[in-house]
Amino acid sequence: MGKNPGNLWKSECKFVAGAATAEQIPNNLFLSEVAFVGRSNVGKSSLLNALVGQNCARVSKQPGRTQQINFFSLADKIMLVDLPGYGYAAVSKQTRQVWDHLILHYLQTEKNLKRVFLLIDVRRGIKDNDLEVINLLDTIGVVYQFVLTKIDKEKKYQDVLENIQNFAASRPSAFPEVICTSSEKGLGIPALKATITELC
Ligand code: GDP
Repeated sequence: MGKNPGNLWKSECKFVAGAATAEQIPNNLFLSEVAFVGRSNVGKSSLLNALVGQNCARVSKQPGRTQQINFFSLADKIMLVDLPGYGYAAVSKQTRQVWDHLILHYLQTEKNLKRVFLLIDVRRGIKDNDLEVINLLDTIGVVYQFVLTKIDKEKKYQDVLENIQNFAASRPSAFPEVICTSSEKGLGIPALKATITELC
């Protein structure tokens, strides 16, 4: 990272591409990438908004874009990659196909992918479909880091945190540190920004 990593988060975030097929994944040779993933409703859009500001991440909420991978570049230094949510019953079949083909392809082939941030709603913990993704990431060998979301909703989030830290310690590709966030209260956002900045 350059001399002024703090400036990264003040820079404009640009929507680069939305990929619904493997061919549409941008051919990014230079920028480091970090990806965000989680169950539908986990708070992924809110977290991206908290990181980069409303105007950018909102794009992923537009109809038809929820089932594609969205790529945002920040200060031409790093690519933030918004992977489609999973586990929402009404779109499960379609989601399944996207996960089976597009996302698997992305995770297996992206050379610049530094880390996947796997979002877990503090009130729900790790569910079966999270576990499927975790197993996949461990199998492919992509480093992932747990991010607890909505911690403002749970007074006893320390218990959940401890469970997930223990779980992470038992998994081959999980980063040991878990980041606790609340997009609503702005908690943990600086820590997440600092982690991403280090990966640039
Ligand atoms: P996504 O489907 O993963 O993109 O989730 P959203 O960002 O759309 O959030 C889903 C719901 O959770 C919305 O009603 C948000 O207002 C709420 N939410 C998201 N983040 C937080 C948070 O940090 N605290 C609380 N209390 N609610 C949140």
